[in-house]
Amino acid sequence: MDLFEYQGKQYFARFDIPVSAGGVAVTVDQAVTVAESAQYPVVVKAQVQVGGRGKAGGIKLANNADEVRTHAGNILGMDIKGHVVKRVWVEHASDIDEEYYASFTLDRAAKKHLLMLSAQGGVDIEEVAEKDPDAIVKLHVNPVEGLSVAVAKKAAVDAKIPAKAQDGVAEILVKLYRCFTEGDCDLAEINPLILKPTGEVHALDAKVSLDANADFRHPEWEEFKATVELDDREKLARDKGLQYIGLDGYVGIIANGAGLAMSTLDVVNQVGGKAANFLDIGGGANADVMASALEVINFDKNVKSIFINIFGGITRGEEVAKGIVEALGRVDLRAPIVIRLDGTNAEEGREILRNAGIPESKLVSKPTMLEAAKAAVEIAKK
Ligand code: GDP
Ligand code: MN
Repeated sequence: MDLFEYQGKQYFARFDIPVSAGGVAVTVDQAVTVAESAQYPVVVKAQVQVGGRGKAGGIKLANNADEVRTHAGNILGMDIKGHVVKRVWVEHASDIDEEYYASFTLDRAAKKHLLMLSAQGGVDIEEVAEKDPDAIVKLHVNPVEGLSVAVAKKAAVDAKIPAKAQDGVAEILVKLYRCFTEGDCDLAEINPLILKPTGEVHALDAKVSLDANADFRHPEWEEFKATVELDDREKLARDKGLQYIGLDGYVGIIANGAGLAMSTLDVVNQVGGKAANFLDIGGGANADVMASALEVINFDKNVKSIFINIFGGITRGEEVAKGIVEALGRVDLRAPIVIRLDGTNAEEGREILRNAGIPESKLVSKPTMLEAAKAAVEIAKK
């Protein structure tokens, strides 16, 4: 679960990481009220879960109420990379001497926590990562040992953080690591982590992603869940009880099992296509589930073909086939289906599909995942 910046900062504050005082506003008037109590100058920041807000014009300094009105008015409702700004965060503006970068993530290959730290933080960190990767120090943290101040300080030295900021940075790294582990984050990132003229080190931005698997440990996450933004497709899928994630491609995907659904995305990508979604219909691919899945896929205007990828284990091929035939009677699909049906009773299933009188223009059956992916992508590109 991704948090908005303001929520990330609230989360940081629980772990004693210094952030600026401010408040959330959904209207221009509220923004002014918050600005008055945060004290000028303030910065008005678009709250959307996408990076590069600054470059997109979603972050503005304001010295008085008029400027807050202008900026909040412009930013509220702004579209940043497809995300419409519904709230702004207004905080007291900070003076910045230097901008650093710090984050903790899980390095799945190494099975360890990974600290990334750079003295060259700010809005161009992606460029630094690409052109000057050595400017980003990477350090594994053993979760059993944790992160000591001494190790954190060494990382700061290695990252060429200037001497005057090293202690402040190390202290925040230790707190950020606690936030990452005890706070059950998948990602805890501060960019920029700033050095103020006063010598204080301070989190100016917050990117936090919480590990949904740890949900049961955190009743306090309820307030974050309330603001999760689903797109219309995801809302429809949730109402129908489906495991669906909207993507921005054009091949609709239906698969049974999360692993197979993931592989299906990969294969579509491998043959040069782009998936419109992730959708795992699980074990019970009966007519109701299949009809719901097809309805959700059909709702997505970008979908040009539908790739149904079923490997029958407990799910039997003839059940799936019956489900599809029945679902096709209920849902009027805009895009043709390419199906790969394999596993338990696959032949019986294909037989049912062949005998159902569905025209070739609406449903094609392919024996392998790769062939089906190629066909689905080809149809979509026509
Ligand atoms: P992002 O563009 O979405 O990563 O948003 P950030 O919160 O990281 O802000 C982008 C940039 O805006 C920062 O790197 C700063 O240079 C600038 N900025 C943000 N807040 C302040 C502030 O309080 N004071 C000043 N002077 N600049 C700020
Ligand atoms: Mn940032």
